[in-house]
Amino acid sequence: MAEIMDKIVALCKRRGFIFPGSDIYGGLANSWDYGPYGVELKNNIKRAWWKANVYGRDDMFGMDAAILMHPKTWEASGHVQNFFDLKSDCKSCKKRFKVADLKDHKHCPECAGELTEPKQFNLMLRTYYGVIDDPASVVYLRPETAQGMFVNFLNILNSCHPKLPFGLAQIGKAFRNEITPGNFTFRTREFEQMEIEYFCRPEEADKVYEEWVDQRKKWYLEIGIRPENLRIRQHQKDELAHYAKACTDVEYRFPWGWSELEGIANRTDFDLRQHAQYSGKDLRYFDDATKERFYPYIIEPSGGVDRCALAVLVDAYYEQEVKGNIRVVLRLHRDLAPIKVAVFPLLKNRAEIVETAKKISADLKKFFVTIYDDTAAIGKLYRRQDEIGTLFCITVDVQSMEDQKVTIRDRDTMQQERISNDKIVQYLFDKLGKGCC
Ligand code: ATP
Repeated sequence: MAEIMDKIVALCKRRGFIFPGSDIYGGLANSWDYGPYGVELKNNIKRAWWKANVYGRDDMFGMDAAILMHPKTWEASGHVQNFFDLKSDCKSCKKRFKVADLKDHKHCPECAGELTEPKQFNLMLRTYYGVIDDPASVVYLRPETAQGMFVNFLNILNSCHPKLPFGLAQIGKAFRNEITPGNFTFRTREFEQMEIEYFCRPEEADKVYEEWVDQRKKWYLEIGIRPENLRIRQHQKDELAHYAKACTDVEYRFPWGWSELEGIANRTDFDLRQHAQYSGKDLRYFDDATKERFYPYIIEPSGGVDRCALAVLVDAYYEQEVKGNIRVVLRLHRDLAPIKVAVFPLLKNRAEIVETAKKISADLKKFFVTIYDDTAAIGKLYRRQDEIGTLFCITVDVQSMEDQKVTIRDRDTMQQERISNDKIVQYLFDKLGKGCC
């Protein structure tokens, strides 16, 4: 298990997906920076999610709320009172542990030293809003994007006039002072969430909840996750958060075991009631047809972008023997692959070949994410593109100067075809579809 994770972490650094955060200063523990291909992968995941959940439906609205919110938000949400983990420290090796992870609450799992009594530890990161470090100006970095949608419920009703059921969708950063961050980007203190808050009539909530569990599992399959590595797991009553009536996780079989990618919760009317009470505003929905005023229930599918990206990378990683060598290839879904096409000149010292390759690359850039590369020998160029999951490699060679054709290689089949220069765009559209760029 460690071996595959080590390979993924090494590939991510070597090929510009993910670097250790603040690397030249020795790194900031458990923080990660996304490089050129990592940011493309994340953007593609977010785009696929937005397409499926906002553009693909008539009942969803996008949002982008501020990270810093009025401190009362977190009193109303229950985070100030309830967002705690219990932790114990080892008196010998000084390591800190989450009590929920410990089998023996008295002894350190690593050095068997004595553990301190459990202490409560609030997971919200704090900062000051404004120039004075005054306790009255303390605000929190949001631990979830959800609350930004709840506090805008009234604004959405008054500006977009939606009818139940409808939902809000938001992607953004969240922060948690996790006690036990780790497993690469799986658990970090700064991360990105993709969240939906779907408002419905209370009597329809159970059905809507089931539908979302189904939808969300399907989405992971649609972006190419292998079915055998995906499952859903219903929470037991004692696992449920203080606000939830039911919760189901979509889990991925990571190298260290099954772990949560996304949680789908029935939050009941808890959030709207709480914010109504703390803000003094009437947050009930008015049904024109029945003349009823009531608090809708909320179904919340909440996933992590970083966890999804990690699952996608692990899932797409293949090693294959080709002519006695190991070929490493990321078989990313075509919508997620950071680069769709790479163009190489076979010979770098032949000006007309280089020029033609550059021109083809420039033309393709209008339609597909394309890169031109001539910084190594052809074998190495192919290997690099395989390792970042590039879908097609185009090579311009001596023959191309005579027949105006190029060689296109398909990442997955490794089949090579000769195509006329003026047919490349159509060929790629046929293979990739118009929606994939
Ligand atoms: P866990 O049980 O793993 O701590 P959670 O149940 O607390 O997760 P939620 O509050 O349901 O997580 O958050 C929704 C999603 O946000 C998670 O499914 C996950 O994908 C992502 N997420 C939560 N915490 C982190 C974190 N520390 N690092 C990366 N992603 C996270």
